Amino acid sequence: MPIFEYTCKQCGKEFERVVFSGEEEKITCPECKSKDVKKNMSASTFMGNSIGSCATSFPKGPS
Ligand SMILES: [Zn+2]
Repeated sequence: MPIFEYTCKQCGKEFERVVFSGEEEKITCPECKSKDVKKNMSASTFMGNSIGSCATSFPKGPS
């Protein structure tokens, strides 16, 4: 289940939301109800892992 972090551009509130496909445009700030929110890319949950495993399993050629 994809959980994304958002930051509200209006009041600066940071919050997490479970986002199903097609519902991203419905995300609103719980604080001021603004739709002007920015998704924060959570590097630790997604990219950090894949990059790490990629780097270790990547063949480095003859040493
Ligand atoms: Zn807000």
